[in-house]
Amino acid sequence: MAQQEDQLKYVISHAKEYGYIFPSSDIYDGLSATYDYGQNGVLLKNNIKEYWWKSMIQLHENIVGIDAAIFMHPTTWKASGHIDAFNDPMIDNKDSKKRYRADVLVEDHIAKIEAKIEKEITKAAKRFGDEFDAEMFKKTNPRVQRYLIEINEISSRLAKSLTDNDLADVKLLIEELGIADPVSGSKNWTDVRQFNLMFGTQLGSVAEQSQTLYLRPETAQGIFVNFLNVQRTGRMKVPFGIAQIGKAFRNEIVARQFIFRMREFEQMEMQFFVTPGTELEAYEAWKQKRMQWHLNLGLGEANYRFHNHEKLAHYANAAADIEFNFPFGFKELEGIHSRTDFDLRQHEQHSGKKLQYFDPEQQKNYIPYVIETSIGLDRMFLAVFSSALKNEELEDGSERVVLKIPAALAPIKAAILPLIKKDGLPELAHQILNDLKFDFNIEFDEKDSIGKRYRRHDAIGTPFCITIDHDSLENQTVTVRDRDSMSQERISIENLRSYLSKRVSLNALLKNLE
Ligand code: ATP
Repeated sequence: MAQQEDQLKYVISHAKEYGYIFPSSDIYDGLSATYDYGQNGVLLKNNIKEYWWKSMIQLHENIVGIDAAIFMHPTTWKASGHIDAFNDPMIDNKDSKKRYRADVLVEDHIAKIEAKIEKEITKAAKRFGDEFDAEMFKKTNPRVQRYLIEINEISSRLAKSLTDNDLADVKLLIEELGIADPVSGSKNWTDVRQFNLMFGTQLGSVAEQSQTLYLRPETAQGIFVNFLNVQRTGRMKVPFGIAQIGKAFRNEIVARQFIFRMREFEQMEMQFFVTPGTELEAYEAWKQKRMQWHLNLGLGEANYRFHNHEKLAHYANAAADIEFNFPFGFKELEGIHSRTDFDLRQHEQHSGKKLQYFDPEQQKNYIPYVIETSIGLDRMFLAVFSSALKNEELEDGSERVVLKIPAALAPIKAAILPLIKKDGLPELAHQILNDLKFDFNIEFDEKDSIGKRYRRHDAIGTPFCITIDHDSLENQTVTVRDRDSMSQERISIENLRSYLSKRVSLNALLKNLE
């Protein structure tokens, strides 16, 4: 645990030091769960957006994008169920005065039992050596079996009491499991209460006529209310999708995990409309497609896993999360949900407008079913950033900090470094920069020794350093140093563009998806 906290602290301080993420309103000591993206952060974020957007819009003939307003008609949230049911169960510790999400306390307890299972497996693996079969061991070892039954019982009970809105039972479960406040160790809990996560605000300046508006807690509803507009004007045929990237707001009860859980964040969502009856096939296909999108970045297969939901929302007939191994363990990065026709049907009822599709093949009208893929842009940022940050020991015994961000996502693609500040080297460096700047984001850097500049760009995550030396003036070649292997090669200046293109362009990454 302490190690995980240290790792997260390290990520946070590196993100601040290298211009990726600052606490919001830093000079006023920040605002909890709100962050600003700095000069490098905004570039990484935009590159992630572009990777997602193009993979959806450009690579699919039947997916289009929109950008809906953050404010929506208040009835939207009645129809979607957010006014009545967008709640999290909260509980306070009477001694420490700390507030927690009751379900998260129970989930953390389950994670501790899972950790015990992992420990048993590691121990056994050592004992049995090469012959060890972890799956078989899990199935047959009595102690592991007991742990698994315990986990199952706790999850089912939590799922049932949350579905039944039986908050007294959630509290009883916390007491029966002996869960203590992680900060103070106290078990002196208040009752569990529901807390609505939407931020409300007033529209209009005259108090009597004002209307409560909500800052959208998800971007999806902007897509549903535009279903007909897009279908008709785009002459879209089912199956088709609508994608959107935008801000969402949730008044989270606890937000202590850096940009993992913020009160203002960004979502990248796509709603895919299909013929009723074909939704589970489409759901499976999107699960695989989304996982492929992640694996394509090369952050390591072992960092991802699916978590299939046991407790389904009342409108869903299948749901799974893609979880990522964050500095604080495996947590949800993206959700893939089969939402039936719930949303369109609700909006049809509340608006009185028909939200149906005429299927020319079946010669009939129906409300399409929906598969949703929903990923938090900030969580994706954290996944890329935290898994890329490495402390490497080098052959000569020295250490380096390096941010191995996939080159196509890196904020700065290359740094141009004149070896010294005279003899015409800075001028040649600027000439090269001015030629390449239309294709790549490149930084000119002449301060400090070359070694220090390499280290600085390792820490920023710049995939290539291009060094200009005296030979460059003679033979029009430069040294290109690779961030990850630290190997260097001599490249002619006229080949630089194609050399970089092959290695840093988003196109190559996108082509891999096909
Ligand atoms: P969690 O269980 O972690 O609260 P959720 O299931 O409520 O998440 P969804 O409503 O499915 O999340 O939202 C879709 C995606 O939006 C999530 O997978 C996550 O990546 C992102 N997301 C949700 N809440 C936040 C938040 N407070 N801060 C940052 N990203 C978020």
